[in-house]
Amino acid sequence: MEEKISIEDMATFCKKKGFVFQNSEIYGGMAGFFDYGPLGVELKNNIKSQFWNVFVQQREDVVGIDGTTITHPKVWEASGHVDSFLDYIYKCPKCRIMVKGDDDKGMTCPKCEAKLKSSGKLNLMFTTNVVPVEGNISYLRPETAQVIFTNYKLVQETSRKKLPFGIAQTGKAFRNEISPRDFLFRSREFEQFEIEYFINPKDVNNCPFIKEVESMKLNLITEKEQKANKPHSEITIDQMVTKRIASPWHAYWLAKYYKFFLDLGIKKENLRLREHHKDELAHYASACFDIEYNFPFGWKEIHGNADRQQFDLTQHMKFSNTSMEYFDEEAKEKVIPYVASEPSQGIDRAFLTFIFEAYNDDKKRGNVVLKLHPKLAPIKVGIFPLVNKLEKEAKKLFTDLSEEFNSMFDKSGSVGRRYARADEIGIPFCITFDFDSLKDKKVTIRDRDTTKQVRTPIKDLKETLRELLNK
Ligand code: ATP
Repeated sequence: MEEKISIEDMATFCKKKGFVFQNSEIYGGMAGFFDYGPLGVELKNNIKSQFWNVFVQQREDVVGIDGTTITHPKVWEASGHVDSFLDYIYKCPKCRIMVKGDDDKGMTCPKCEAKLKSSGKLNLMFTTNVVPVEGNISYLRPETAQVIFTNYKLVQETSRKKLPFGIAQTGKAFRNEISPRDFLFRSREFEQFEIEYFINPKDVNNCPFIKEVESMKLNLITEKEQKANKPHSEITIDQMVTKRIASPWHAYWLAKYYKFFLDLGIKKENLRLREHHKDELAHYASACFDIEYNFPFGWKEIHGNADRQQFDLTQHMKFSNTSMEYFDEEAKEKVIPYVASEPSQGIDRAFLTFIFEAYNDDKKRGNVVLKLHPKLAPIKVGIFPLVNKLEKEAKKLFTDLSEEFNSMFDKSGSVGRRYARADEIGIPFCITFDFDSLKDKKVTIRDRDTTKQVRTPIKDLKETLRELLNK
């Protein structure tokens, strides 16, 4: 198997090709902050719109919102973040690096293995002043979830949703990470796509969608396997439910997200579920699983998914003195909805996952081929005139195609060189307009992955591309 490039080399590649830049580089950079460049913004937007399309627009039972990043400070008192969103700071007396710990049990330095010195705790929320009054502290949201909870009642009533239903949101989150590292993996400003899925508490074991996914196989590393230092093993969703590893709702949502990654080209050997240890669970969760990707720096979380029970709505009811109850018409009683699953997806970690999986250093071709799924590719079509003389005709084609597909016009260098440049930024299809095109009104479409070339009538081009890009 081909060796993966390191995270440092990936950061260099992303910079060189205009995917991602270190923020404020001209001032020496700012650790934990990154800016997306011309290709990065396209790839990131495509990833976000795939999530939104699959999990919001294609579903009758999920609606979206777009809330603010600064909210009433009480939101974070009610959610428990003011008291509990803490990391323990450790310093290495030899290397002087700072590391975060989830508890105060003591740690050794990941570099030199010296015993680390505990330096107290840090709340990861960024604070800010709203209205120019000193002491009027508010927080930048450390997750998008809470804005969903505070809007729960308004969304439920205005969209006339009945339980079970979900509310989704995508947007920025901020965490003052003690040691941001591994490029986009652990940054201080990032994006999340989160859903809170509410059910009637009496239906905790009754998920009507489970049939859809029950035969699906996935890799799972259980708490027991982790403690025994064993590798992950394959399991079906049905087995996860019958062995009571996960509730039917939790298993269903994990399966849907796992499948999302497989459908967009992640190989199944690079994906697994990890069960959280009981003592690792956050203050609001009764169970939690991560989806992990096999990065060159190890298996790491790209998605967290907790069963949050009734914790958040109950807390907000208490702190705001506002009822969030739902009237169950059948039972003629009020209930507090139960969050059976909270799929919490980091967009930047999904970005890293897709770009690592796509990266191929093709020695035979002599260039990198970024084999991104066509739905994710930042630029869908490259249009090349064979020689400069044909520029006018090829430009016409570009103008026409770019109304529908994000396209790139390239006339410089040999066609081989242009193909290589297109491969490196993941353009799935390139079209060459040559002298024959003037007569037969056909062009050549070249496939990035197979390098096969097919002659296609110009009049059928849009339809052909639509089929190729959505297959
Ligand atoms: P970790 O243990 O890696 O710090 P976490 O368990 O605190 O992560 P969650 O609170 O579950 O993370 O956040 C949900 C998702 O948000 C994560 O799966 C990840 O994709 C994303 N995320 C969290 N923190 C960061 C970060 N600092 N940089 C980039 N993405 C992040």
